[in-house]
Amino acid sequence: MNFDSLNQTVASIRILQKFYSIIRIWDANHKQILYQCDDNADPVETSVSIADFRDAALSINENENTLEISIPVNIDGQSCSLELIQHSEKNGSTSSLRHMQKLIITDSLTNLYNRRYIDEQLPVNLEKAFHNSEPVSFIYADIDLFKKINDQYGHIAGDYVLNEIADIFQRHIRRKSGWVARYGGDEFLTCLPEINTNTAIKIANRIRRAVEDKSFYINDHFLKITCSFGVQTVYNSSGVHTVNQVVGLLDKKLYLAKKKGRNKVVA
Ligand code: GH3
Ligand code: MG
Repeated sequence: MNFDSLNQTVASIRILQKFYSIIRIWDANHKQILYQCDDNADPVETSVSIADFRDAALSINENENTLEISIPVNIDGQSCSLELIQHSEKNGSTSSLRHMQKLIITDSLTNLYNRRYIDEQLPVNLEKAFHNSEPVSFIYADIDLFKKINDQYGHIAGDYVLNEIADIFQRHIRRKSGWVARYGGDEFLTCLPEINTNTAIKIANRIRRAVEDKSFYINDHFLKITCSFGVQTVYNSSGVHTVNQVVGLLDKKLYLAKKKGRNKVVA
């Protein structure tokens, strides 16, 4: 979301006060609150500093009683963060709200995260890693010759393959801060915070072999399917801040993996 000024942002998000207990806008470094409004107070502009906020700045952070959402916003050219916090005491609607939020960020076919989640979460992962001088690695995968499955066995068989491959990805992302999403058709994007290139290549190869080893039971046949992988690690010095920049770099690697004969990992 892009806004020309803080005032314009505050005016635009006023409606959210009905649904959230606390609304905050953080500055680009996640150190200063530029605006805060909570249940008990009139909207005020503050300059509170909370050094450890960064660790809590997950896109969606759930626990028993609160739902926290952090959305990257652009205010007058600055990357800021809009934080929405919902306490269950407010109107008892947290669980349905949480359910809705899950639906909004979930791909309905594979149950992986969807494109919306990527757009919201990836910039947060980058900012957090850069602040801690840590790398973030990404794995971009595309099923090999997937059109053939659809053409020969139909879309339902194709959907079954997408689901099974999604499960393989999910099983290989063990770390709490890592995530995997369906980027589009037969493309999957995995984010691995604090993981360097060598480890990311190992993880990609583990997933590649797991797909290769699986037999897909379709129309009384056991079929073998493979995926190609692009791996890219970004650092603070890489000058990479957006989803498009990350996917642009990954796309080139994936293209090379296809060109090298498919069922390959290129970093
Ligand atoms: P390549 O190895 O070059 O990737 O070949 P490919 O045949 O996999 O080519 P491509 O990745 O371009 O094809 C993606 C196909 O995925 C095209 C489209 O029909 C299919 N597809 C996209 N979304 C879905 C879906 O939700 N379900 C099914 N069954 N098929 C889908
Ligand atoms: Mg493909």
